[in-house]
Amino acid sequence: SDAPSLLQLRGFSVSYGPVEAVHEVDLDVREGEIVTVIGPNGAGKTTLLNAIMGLLPSRGQVQVAGEPVARPTVERMVARSVALVPEKRELFGEMSVEDNLLLGGFSRWRRGDRTQRERMQEVYAIFPRLAERRAQMAATLSGGERQMLAIGRALMAKPRLLMLDEPSLGLAPLIVREVLLTVSRLREVGVSVLLVEQNARAALQIADRAYVLEMGAVALSGAAEALLHDRRIIDTYLGLG
Ligand code: ATP
Repeated sequence: SDAPSLLQLRGFSVSYGPVEAVHEVDLDVREGEIVTVIGPNGAGKTTLLNAIMGLLPSRGQVQVAGEPVARPTVERMVARSVALVPEKRELFGEMSVEDNLLLGGFSRWRRGDRTQRERMQEVYAIFPRLAERRAQMAATLSGGERQMLAIGRALMAKPRLLMLDEPSLGLAPLIVREVLLTVSRLREVGVSVLLVEQNARAALQIADRAYVLEMGAVALSGAAEALLHDRRIIDTYLGLG
């Protein structure tokens, strides 16, 4: 595709003290794409997302929509319409689904602003299950529903790029499919996605392109469909079934 890069990383590296956890990563997420980063435990996937979001210091070049970000900070990345749903889905358990959503859009909320209500209707259209449960306490939702709420809450800020860290973590296989299918629908609302997953098969099935991260470096990248049929990927990451 010739679509311009929404996110472009060049020579992107992240260290914990003397230990380099992410090494010279080149990565692109183009407008409208779902891109997945797969790889084994400890490959640096979470570190990569956290550093892009500005939660960790990094080296290398970061561009969002063609504009360089000198040094990513959360504030700068939020201002450029980048959002992260971390692995730990930090919801407000004692608050309703709806209040959790409203808090997600807080930075853009103004008294009497109708945009938040409209945005909430869009989120409910993507996640009808949340609409049915709008008055329910977040703590009483199922694992899959909590993940949908975490994603929905991030969408309230109207990101152009949504980064998801292992949305399938701790979910039963059937629910994994359901959550990832909703992720694949985010394209329809103009959101591009950078998805970190250990569940390689499910991630490759919904993604356009994929990067395989091993020991902090990109070992392989390409069309998700091609990687699904790549012998090495099948043997190492897809196993049987
Ligand atoms: P997982 O799927 O298990 O979460 P991952 O691919 O997300 O793995 P990271 O969590 O990014 O991997 O970890 C990458 C490497 O960096 C690992 O070797 C890990 O031990 C190390 N690491 C992660 N966080 C820290 C930290 N705060 N301090 C030092 N080393 C860290």
